[in-house]
Amino acid sequence: MSDNHITKSLEDFMEHVTARNPGQDEFHQAVSEVASDVLPWIRNKSEYRDARVLERLIEPDRIVSFRVCWFDDNGDVQINRGYRVQLSNAIGPYKGGLRFHPTVNESVLKFLAFEQTFKNALTGLPLGSGKGGSDFNPKGKSDREIMRFCQSFMTECCRYIGADTDIPAGDIGVGAREIGFMFGQYKRIKGEFTGVLTGKGLEYGGSALRSEATGYGAVHFAQCMLEQHDHQLDGLTVAISGSGNVALHAAEKAITLGAKVVSLSDSGGCIYDENGFNDEKMAWVDKLKNEQGGRISEYANEFDAEYFEGKTPWHLDVDIAMPCATQNEIDNDDARTLIKNKCIAVVEGANMPTSNEAISSFIDAGVLFAPAKAANAGGVAMSGLEMSQNAQKRSWAADELAQCLESIMGEIHSRCIEHATKTEDGVINYRYGANIAGFKKVADAMLSFGVC
Ligand code: NDP
Repeated sequence: MSDNHITKSLEDFMEHVTARNPGQDEFHQAVSEVASDVLPWIRNKSEYRDARVLERLIEPDRIVSFRVCWFDDNGDVQINRGYRVQLSNAIGPYKGGLRFHPTVNESVLKFLAFEQTFKNALTGLPLGSGKGGSDFNPKGKSDREIMRFCQSFMTECCRYIGADTDIPAGDIGVGAREIGFMFGQYKRIKGEFTGVLTGKGLEYGGSALRSEATGYGAVHFAQCMLEQHDHQLDGLTVAISGSGNVALHAAEKAITLGAKVVSLSDSGGCIYDENGFNDEKMAWVDKLKNEQGGRISEYANEFDAEYFEGKTPWHLDVDIAMPCATQNEIDNDDARTLIKNKCIAVVEGANMPTSNEAISSFIDAGVLFAPAKAANAGGVAMSGLEMSQNAQKRSWAADELAQCLESIMGEIHSRCIEHATKTEDGVINYRYGANIAGFKKVADAMLSFGVC
C-alpha cells in the first residue's frame, strides 16, 4: 500500500470516528495516534481487518454516567456528574483510574480508557481497561466535603464495579485519602472486604510502592531506552512538569539515579532551579504539595530559583523532558524548542501529554520518544500486583515489589522493541512498537471470542 493509500485509509477511519463521537476531541486524538500505526500494520492481516477489531475497540463495552449529590460545609446541596467507562475486558477485568477534575467529561475519560487498553496489555498482566471520575473539583474543599463527595460517588459507582469485574484506582485529584473514603463506602454498602480498588492504604490491603510506581516506572523505562541507545541517565539534566504523584516520584527516582532535575510545575507555572533539586528540596516540595496545599511558585522564594508564571518547562535547555502533569501540555512549538535545545529524550509520565504533531516532530528529529502507554504503565502494573496480593490475602515486601516493577518495565521495553521500527541511525520508534504490541495482544484475545 502506498503512503497515499495509508493516509487516505486513516482519513476515512477518522471521519468515521469523528462522526460517531462528535465533539470528543481528546478521544479522536488518542484514536488517531493508535490508528496511524495499526491501520498500516493490519493492511495485510485479513484476520484483524475482517473481524473489524479496531472498529470494535473504539466502542467501549459500556459507559455509565450518574448524578452525584452532596452537602458542602455551608449545608448547600452540590451536584456533580460521575462516570465509569468500561472499555474492554478482553484480557482481564476492567482496570483504570478515577479522575476528579473540573475538565472531566466523556471525551477525556474515553481517551484515557482507550489508552489504558494498550497500556494494560503491555504490562503482560491480565488487565482489561476502563477509566472513570467526575467533574468535581477537590481543590479548596475541606476533608469533610471530600468525604461526603466520595461517599456519594461510591454509593452509585458500587453497582458497576467489583474485585473480578472492574477495579478502579486513583488518577488526577484521587489519591490515598479519596481511595480510603471510597473503599470505606463500598465496604459499608456491600458488606464485603475485597480488593475492589487499588491504591489502598497499607493498613487495609494496599500494596507497598503503589504510589511511587508510576513515577519510578517511568524513570526505569527511560533508563532502558537510554541504555538501548548508548546513553546513561547519570549526569543528564531533566525537566519535569507537574508536582503531583507522578512528577514527584519521577523526580525522586531520577535524582537517585544521578540525573539533575531542574524543574517542576503546577497549573500556575513552572520553576527552574539551575542547581537541581536534592533530597532536602524534594522533602520541602512534598510537604508543600501534599500537606499544605501550596503553589509551586513558593519554591522560588524559598530556594532562590526562577519562577515562570503561566509557563510549562519546555523552553528550558535540558537533555530529557518528562511531562507528568496532564494531557496536551507539549505542542509542536514546544517540540521545536526542545529539539533546537538538543533534547535527547521525551518520556511521558502523564497520559497523552504530547500532541500528535509534536510526537511526529520528535520521531522525525531522532529524539527518543517514550509514549505514556509504555512509560507510565508502572502504576497500573503495581495495581495488578496489589490485586494479586489481595486475592492471595497476603502482602509482599517493598524490595520484592521494587524488583518486580523494574523487571516489568524492562519487559514492557522489550515488548515495544519486538514490534518497533528503527530509523537508519538506529533510533527505535517506541510509539509504533507500543501500539502494535498492545493492539496485537488484545486483538488476538478478541479473535478467540468470535464476534461479540
Ligand atoms: P496529581 O493530581 O497528583 O497531580 C497532577 C499535577 O498536574 C499537579 O501538579 C497539577 O497542578 C498538574 N496539572 C493538572 N492539570 C493541569 C493543567 N491543566 N495544566 C497544568 N498542570 C496541571 O495527578 P497524578 O500525578 O496522579 O497524574 C498526573 C498524570 O499522570 C495524569 O495525566 C494521569 O492520568 C497520569 N497517570 C497517573 C497515574 C497514577 O498512578 N497516579 C498512573 C498513570 C498515569 P495543580 O495542582 O495546579 O492542578
